[in-house]
Amino acid sequence: MPFDSLTGGARVPLSVPNIAGNEWAYVKECLDTGWVSSVGGFVDRFERGFAEAIGVPYAVACSSGTAALHVALVLAGVGHDDEVIVPALTFIAPANAVRYVGGWPVFVDIDSQYWQIDPARVHRFLSESCTHDDGVTRNRVTGRRVAAILPVHLLGHACDVDALAALARDFNLALIEDATESLGGRYRGQPIGGRSRLAAFSFNGNKIITTGGGGMLVTTDGTLAERAKYLTTQAKDDPGEFIHRAVGFNYRLTNVQAAIGCAQLEQLDRFLERKRAIARGYNEAFCGLSGVTLPGEAPWASSSYWMYTVRIDASVGGVTNREVQAALASAGIESRLLWQPLHRSPAHAASHSEPSPVADVVYDTALTLPSSTGMTDDQQHRVVDAFVAAWGPQ
Ligand SMILES: *Cc1c(COP(=O)(O)O)cnc(C)c1O
Repeated sequence: MPFDSLTGGARVPLSVPNIAGNEWAYVKECLDTGWVSSVGGFVDRFERGFAEAIGVPYAVACSSGTAALHVALVLAGVGHDDEVIVPALTFIAPANAVRYVGGWPVFVDIDSQYWQIDPARVHRFLSESCTHDDGVTRNRVTGRRVAAILPVHLLGHACDVDALAALARDFNLALIEDATESLGGRYRGQPIGGRSRLAAFSFNGNKIITTGGGGMLVTTDGTLAERAKYLTTQAKDDPGEFIHRAVGFNYRLTNVQAAIGCAQLEQLDRFLERKRAIARGYNEAFCGLSGVTLPGEAPWASSSYWMYTVRIDASVGGVTNREVQAALASAGIESRLLWQPLHRSPAHAASHSEPSPVADVVYDTALTLPSSTGMTDDQQHRVVDAFVAAWGPQ
């Protein structure tokens, strides 16, 4: 099986799919019946199962998490020259999706403890750097309307949704949650995305469940769900006569991908338990290392620990995150830096950013360690030993 060749060898990968359930059987069913494209029973079944898993009434399968974000922005009414608040530290996709609708991301810093977008800083931007006229919030610097907040639940840990929802209400903004990294994480006891008007998930290869590539838009609003289905399937008003009243997208998930998704979803609880056990294992091994900051959980959060990430203080250990990464690599262990903060990204150089010093520090010190749900205890011990050996002061 490909899974064994990926994780069973000497190399310990960062995060690889765990294909251990009914994936083969369900895909075979698609191939045997000829239902391979965007129509077929598995798409409906995956949507229903997913909605049930997170406790939301509607889920619309999409071809990727980025596509789900794009459609969510359209549904939220974000348009040309509108601004959308995005965390300074995240994978680039949400900022790109804002550009797809002709809008502009505005980068706001994260908090230093949980690395999530900081509601206090969002509030400061909205109240001190914006004007307010007739329910319209406008960025003083750019003169553009601020239309939405797009927080990311980073690395499986929930951001403070209630605080952000209150700001969205007070300043008349839409709230779109990027939950692509956080399926299975919880906010105040509820699954992330479970109460969202608009939230996006991803089933990319390294996410907690995968369909090869794919995404899901979830919503509590039936009208938005209908509209999402319409827009993701080329906005067909009269399929017989080929009449389209809107510019739609070819963003539907295929039945083959949904078949894999159904099989993966059946294993979600087990994957989550495994992710949390891996995090516990690392936490126990590293809690005595001075200069290594473990990933914490906020009082409101239960993290899915999608990617276990520590911070490394080089002034204590004498080695940087990049040097630890190199030491791990020479021991056959894959690790990863976080993403270049978006206020430094050449791709978004034209966008406005609030000062984001915390994102810079976290980026310069963080290192993500192997977190595959299929990782064995032996492999994790190897990672721990190599990490402790690379670290130094103890
Ligand atoms: C993975 C990811 C996405 C994009 O998902 P795709 O399915 O790869 O398009 C979006 N936002 C964040 C924060 C991600 O980590």
